[in-house]
Amino acid sequence: MNYTVDYDKKKKKAEWPAFINISEWKQEHPVIYLIPERCKACSFCINYCPEQILEFSSDINQKGYHLPKLKEGKDFSNCAECHFCELICPEFAIFVKVPEKQEEEEKQDE
Ligand code: SF4
Ligand code: SF4
Repeated sequence: MNYTVDYDKKKKKAEWPAFINISEWKQEHPVIYLIPERCKACSFCINYCPEQILEFSSDINQKGYHLPKLKEGKDFSNCAECHFCELICPEFAIFVKVPEKQEEEEKQDE
């Protein structure tokens, strides 16, 4: 099946995933968490983030690796909650959660 790419002329890039309108289901801003001591600065999360919202910071962890951070001018609302950074990180150092969902999960655990 061929999907039509909804090309946003202002942004000069296609929405990701191209066939899903994220605004239809995105209700709360996700939060990106990093476990600093696990990161080895492989840059996978930075290079493969479809929204390109991550970059290396000048901060380093105990092993001397530079840690990813949100780019200047970006905030959590720019995250598509695609979880791709989470899936691709070989060190399980980064993950994404929506606060409301997290609270619901905690309630269910009680
Ligand atoms: S969840 Fe997706 S959009 Fe958000 S930071 Fe990770 S890769 Fe980027
Ligand atoms: S993918 Fe994981 S290990 Fe690699 S830079 Fe990102 S957080 Fe660090």
